[in-house]
Amino acid sequence: PLAGRCALITGSTAGIGLDTAEALGAMGADLVLNGFGEPEALAAICASLSERHSVRVMHNAADASKPEQVQALVAAAQAHGRGRLDILVNNAGATHEAPIESFPVEAWDFQLALNISAPFHAIRSALPGMRAQGWGRIVNVASVHGLVGVPYRVGYVAAKHALVGMTKVVALETAGTAITCNAVCPGIVATERVLLNHRRQAAETGQDIADVQRQVMSTRQPSGNYIRSADVAAAIAYLCGPHAGEVRGIALPIDGAWSAL
Ligand code: NAD
Repeated sequence: PLAGRCALITGSTAGIGLDTAEALGAMGADLVLNGFGEPEALAAICASLSERHSVRVMHNAADASKPEQVQALVAAAQAHGRGRLDILVNNAGATHEAPIESFPVEAWDFQLALNISAPFHAIRSALPGMRAQGWGRIVNVASVHGLVGVPYRVGYVAAKHALVGMTKVVALETAGTAITCNAVCPGIVATERVLLNHRRQAAETGQDIADVQRQVMSTRQPSGNYIRSADVAAAIAYLCGPHAGEVRGIALPIDGAWSAL
């Protein structure tokens, strides 16, 4: 259903972003990957996606926390799409933990730069082309922390709440067009990075990983299950697909009932 369309996914060399590239590639979209990694590993990822889905794939190493690099990334994606950038998934993100009194100012600035300013600059750059071609899909990967707070992550929580707010504004400004803008709000996703953290926590405390999982989930994710990264990607793919044209401005929780607490 996305054949002939071009998708840019920021932060897509690992985790939810890579699974989203997989899902959109499987629907036939040409892909622009972004994020960090070893050149050989990145080339292998691109080649594999391209071969398995018969789509054109490129990687661009732009640092999404830098506005001018985001603008250049969007321009590179438009060139890859031979003038069209149909789908923009703002996925690159990171978090920092500290109480607000000692939250480093540089960490605050970086949290805002990556988690909210990067999507702003990407949308601002991509929207004129989407309007000209008369079709577009924008999905912002927020978090359950775009809907509810948590202590010690002031930068992340503030930025993800802002991202949910920006999603609504863009949806309203594009409501009379075939361009949509939505957000997804995952809970704790079983990405390599998250599992590594939980394994490290288990090793440090002498527990096994199931105990750590139970502990982490008990105060937060009522289902007790990790969210599967591929399931978040499938939700993003739905929002980018032909059946979601009138889904506008939502922030979809995929959080094992966390936001229902
Ligand atoms: P990850 O850490 O597994 O992967 C991050 C990707 O972003 C990698 O490809 C990395 O190279 C890239 N990246 C990092 N910094 C970048 C930068 N400055 N510029 C460009 N690319 C950069 O990430 P993830 O856990 O899959 O998270 C993806 C998104 O989902 C983030 O916005 C995150 O806040 C959100 N999220 C994740 C979880 C979770 O439990 N993993 C839960 C809720 C929301």
